[in-house]
Amino acid sequence: MSLLIVGSIALDTVKTPVEEHADLLGGSASYAALAASYFSPVRLVGVVGSDFPQAELDFWKSRKVDLEGVQRADGKTFRWSGEYSWDLNTRATRSTDLNVFETFQPTLPESYRQTDFVLLANIAPALQSHVLDQAERPRFIVADTMNLWIETARKDLDALLPRVDLLILNDSEAREMTEETSLIKAGRRIQKMGPRYVAIKKGEHGALLFGEKDEFFSCGAYPLEDIHDPTGAGDTFAGGMAGFLAGTVKTVRFADLRKAMIYGSVLASFCVEAFSLERLRHLTNEEIASRYEMFKLMSQFEVLA
Ligand code: AMP
Repeated sequence: MSLLIVGSIALDTVKTPVEEHADLLGGSASYAALAASYFSPVRLVGVVGSDFPQAELDFWKSRKVDLEGVQRADGKTFRWSGEYSWDLNTRATRSTDLNVFETFQPTLPESYRQTDFVLLANIAPALQSHVLDQAERPRFIVADTMNLWIETARKDLDALLPRVDLLILNDSEAREMTEETSLIKAGRRIQKMGPRYVAIKKGEHGALLFGEKDEFFSCGAYPLEDIHDPTGAGDTFAGGMAGFLAGTVKTVRFADLRKAMIYGSVLASFCVEAFSLERLRHLTNEEIASRYEMFKLMSQFEVLA
């Protein structure tokens, strides 16, 4: 089944303590779409400016990403720049230039309206809701968000939450949203705000998943020796998770979400191995399967007979 993804498509400038690269393909929808494309066909919704490289659009087409919902506007593509400190975990935003995003109104092409799985990747919650308004009874809706919206668009975010099946956010965002120090309390509080399921990412420490009643799952992150650029790991996690669900599951159960979370973690672990989407572009299904198996082995603690 197809997965509809809306989010940002960007040109990023990223600085780590050892390297800096400008005008790289980035944006929440770009990472999410490429990750998801390893599991299911993708219908992409977003906007690019007249400076956006045609080669990137051609690449997406080669990955079976439907671009009918990507608008080409006069002006510059959305640009974002960030700088990481030595732990490669703390990040400061250096600049955000909305450009064509400023007037962006996502419009679903007729052919997208009936899509069973929807991923609202990180963009303003009002735009995420606007996409849902146009979708015809999707079966499962995943949403991602960020601290900026918790701080500046809380009303819009609160209005979106009851419409979402699974909300994905990171630990600091969950704490900020709920004013809870405990992530367990934070996860349960967020569920009361609307989403049936909540996934809280903890960066290199893995992720937590909250379901109904006592349904709970915790997984680690894949241990990597070399991280080059953490940008987009969260979007890739969301894309991997939603892509796996859309590609393999009819009715989503908690057990499917547990597995989807491992696939999200696997894809995110590849993402950070290179700048931009470079590692994700050249992935093979065998590499994904082999890291998934490693994850299984790593999590096994009972003595096997
Ligand atoms: P992550 O590292 O998962 O937080 O995602 C990084 C990506 O988010 C970058 O490629 C940026 O282009 C994109 N991004 C940064 N700020 C925003 C924003 N305000 N709205 C949408 N996307 C953004």
